Amino acid sequence: MPALPSRRPLALLALGAVMAAIFAADTVTDYAVAAACFYAAVILAASRLLPRRGLIALAAVCIVLTGLSFFLTRFGTYRIGLVNSAIGMLVIGITTYLTLKMEAAKAAVHEAQARLLRVARASTVGELTTSIAHEVNQPLAAIASSAEASQRWLAQQPPNVDKARQTLARILADAHRASDVIARIRGLTRGAAPQRQGFDLNLAVEEMLALSRSELDQHGVVVATVLADGLPPVFADRVQVQQVIGNLILNAVDAMAEVPAAQRRLSLVTAGEGRDQVSLRVRDRGVGLPLEAPERVFDAFWTTKALGLGLGLSLSRSIIDANNGQIRAERPAGGGACFVFTLPVATGGAHA
Ligand code: ADP
Repeated sequence: MPALPSRRPLALLALGAVMAAIFAADTVTDYAVAAACFYAAVILAASRLLPRRGLIALAAVCIVLTGLSFFLTRFGTYRIGLVNSAIGMLVIGITTYLTLKMEAAKAAVHEAQARLLRVARASTVGELTTSIAHEVNQPLAAIASSAEASQRWLAQQPPNVDKARQTLARILADAHRASDVIARIRGLTRGAAPQRQGFDLNLAVEEMLALSRSELDQHGVVVATVLADGLPPVFADRVQVQQVIGNLILNAVDAMAEVPAAQRRLSLVTAGEGRDQVSLRVRDRGVGLPLEAPERVFDAFWTTKALGLGLGLSLSRSIIDANNGQIRAERPAGGGACFVFTLPVATGGAHA
């Protein structure tokens, strides 16, 4: 992960100073002292600050400095100096190669994790939508054909009011059937019996942040966490709770996509709420929640996104409810949105 842009110049300056010190030590000491090997530490430290090309250029500079020190050194045996300089250059080269490999592997892992996160959300939501679409379509089609029939009954001369009334009753019954389907499907998601255990909410938050890291970095979101010390373990389904945290993080990223880069700040704060509850607040500085009714965001199918399904928060509420907690949305004074959920504390249960 690259260092924060504001700290980068300072860190680079410090690395420059270390390189100068290594160069001086390598030049003024005896040929037998292989100070050039310390450039490897510089390469390792710089891997968090520089992109791939920058790191290769830095390695080249280190190798040139090693060669220069060799020519400027006045003490010791020439042959030992030659061997030590060659070893130093080799160490720099190998370290750079391994560091680049490691960084590439880390980037691949982050990308895969972010994809996994999106796929996990999309597949739950996608499966649900397919079954809803299928089940709701039937009563809707029946409603449409009954409505047409009742139009025909009413268009007759004289209008057949009795038949029209019967078809209206059928329309009403089908409308109830459609809403029952929705209620049943919502019940299904709630009914995925949670596998509850005691776990550390702080750790769960950190894991989800690590999983979302590349997504957050890609959108230039700066994250601040305030994870309370000594929190008791919560008693809930860890995987489900992490799904909720992941969903809140992704929603925050989406909400901040349109605001200026400097404003893209996300904070996650855990706290004890009395003796038997623990809370997590996820606060962003994005576009904010609807003014008139922030709680609307929890309604199924309520979305403002072109490709949104409006099910993430509805599912999140179902999950938190099923785990005996509460979730709410707030419009904080400084703008943006804040989602807060609480979960019960584990009382003497196993702690994972
Ligand atoms: P989706 O992301 O598919 O729209 P959600 O249920 O997760 O479904 O969210 C519903 C709606 O709530 C979003 O379309 C958005 O308008 C609003 N919303 C959710 N999270 C935030 C947030 N952090 N800031 C502003 N609006 C939000």
